Amino acid sequence: MTRTYAMVGTPCQITAATLMDRYTEDFPVELKLGLFCMENFSYTYLKKLAEEEGIDLADVSELRIEKGRLWFHLNDGSKVSVSLERARAAMRKNCSVCMDFTSEQSDISIGSVGSPEGWSTIIIRTERGHELIEKARKAGYIETKPLTERGIRILEKLASGKKEDNLQEIKRRESVARPVLYWRVMPDEEYLEEVTDYQFDDLRSDVIDVGACVLCGACVASCPEDIVSIKDRKPEVEGTCPEGCNACYVACPRTYVPDSIIGHDSAITPLGEYIEILSARAPMFRGQDGGVVTALLTYALREGIIDGALVVDRDQERPWKPLPVLAEEPQDIVKAAGTKYSACPLLKVLKE
Ligand SMILES: Cc1cc2nc3c(=O)[nH]c(=O)nc-3n(C[C@H](O)[C@H](O)[C@H](O)COP(=O)(O)OP(=O)(O)OC[C@H]3O[C@@H](n4cnc5c(N)ncnc54)[C@H](O)[C@@H]3O)c2cc1C
Ligand code: SF4
Ligand code: SF4
Ligand code: SF4
Repeated sequence: MTRTYAMVGTPCQITAATLMDRYTEDFPVELKLGLFCMENFSYTYLKKLAEEEGIDLADVSELRIEKGRLWFHLNDGSKVSVSLERARAAMRKNCSVCMDFTSEQSDISIGSVGSPEGWSTIIIRTERGHELIEKARKAGYIETKPLTERGIRILEKLASGKKEDNLQEIKRRESVARPVLYWRVMPDEEYLEEVTDYQFDDLRSDVIDVGACVLCGACVASCPEDIVSIKDRKPEVEGTCPEGCNACYVACPRTYVPDSIIGHDSAITPLGEYIEILSARAPMFRGQDGGVVTALLTYALREGIIDGALVVDRDQERPWKPLPVLAEEPQDIVKAAGTKYSACPLLKVLKE
C-alpha cells in the first residue's frame, strides 16, 4: 500500500522535494510545510561559538534568533546571547546565495516574522494547504487571526532584503568564481535536455566539491541503486551508476532548476505566490513560536490525512545536532518541536 507523508523543511529542502515530486516516480511526500529561513549554521561552528561563551550545548534548552541576536536559553533559566554579526561567522556559506526566505514552493510556509510573540506567521499557498488549515482550525488544533498590515510590511521587507543582498552575492561570486547553477534558471524543455547525461560525478564536481551542497539528503533519497550515502557531512557514492540515470543530479536543489519552479521573477516578488497570510497559534502544543507546525502535522497524522511526517529531532548523543526522523506516531512529531539551527539531510530518511 502506498504511504503518504508530510514534511517540514527549510526552503532549500522544500525545493529538493519539489524537484523530486516532479521528476521521481512514487515520491511519497504530498504535504510540504516550509519554514522561513534567513540563514543556517554549521553544527561544528555553532558548538564552538557556544563554547567561546562558556556554554555547553547540553545545558541549552532552547535556541532563538531574535532582535538581531542568537540566544542560548539555558536549563537553569538564564540566557546568553551573541550578535548575529558574530554568529554569522558560523553561517553556512551557501546561505548567502539563497534567494528564498519563505519556502515559496510549500503548501504552507511558517515562521515568526510579523506576528506577536507566541504566534506564528503562516502563508497559505495551495488549496491543499488551505484545506488543512480550515480543518485544523475547526478541530481546535490552531486558532488564527489576520496578520496586521505592519506585520506584512516587515515580512516583505525581510524577504526582499534577503533577495537583494543575496542576488548581489550571486553576481559577485559569478564574477570571480563558478556560476551559481540553481540561479541559472531555464525553460523546462531546455532543462531536461541540459541535465540528461549528468550523473553523480557531475553532482560531485558541480555542487559537492565547490561547497554548494546544502545537505538536504535528496541525492540519497532519489538514488534508485541505493549507492549514495552521506559521510562526514558530504554525499558520496560507492558503486557504478547505470547508463541513463541522472536522478541525483535532477533532485539536487543546487544544480540547475527549471524556471517553472524557480524563475528570475522570484527576485522581485518577496513572498512568492500565495492565497492568504495569517497569524496562528496552537494552544495545545509547545513549539518554537506558535507551535503551528507541530499542531498541523499531529492533526494530519491523527486524522489519517498522512501516514507519517519527515521532521527534525535532536540527536541524543550530540546536543542540538539535528536528527532527521520519519515520525509515524504523534508523540514523535511533538518530540521534534523546536528549531535546530543547523543543516540536516532530512530527505534521506525516505531511504531508511
Ligand atoms: C535553520 C532555520 C532558520 C530559520 N530562520 C527563521 C527566520 O529567519 N525567521 C523566521 O521567522 N523563522 C525562521 N525559522 C523558522 C522558525 O524558527 C520556526 O521553525 C517556525 O516559526 C515554526 O514555528 P512553530 O512553533 O510553528 O514550529 P514547531 O511546532 O516548534 O515545529 C518546528 C518544526 O521545525 C522542524 N525543524 C527544526 N529544525 C529544523 C531544521 N534544521 N531543518 C528542517 N526542519 C527543522 C522540526 O521538525 C519541527 O517539526 C527558521 C527555521 C530554521 C530551521
Ligand atoms: S540555503 Fe541556507 S538560507 Fe537557504 S533555505 Fe537552505 S538553510 Fe536556509
Ligand atoms: S545511480 Fe543515478 S541517482 Fe544513483 S548516484 Fe548514480 S546517477 Fe546518481
Ligand atoms: S549534493 Fe545532495 S545533499 Fe547536497 S544539496 Fe545536492 S541533493 Fe542535497
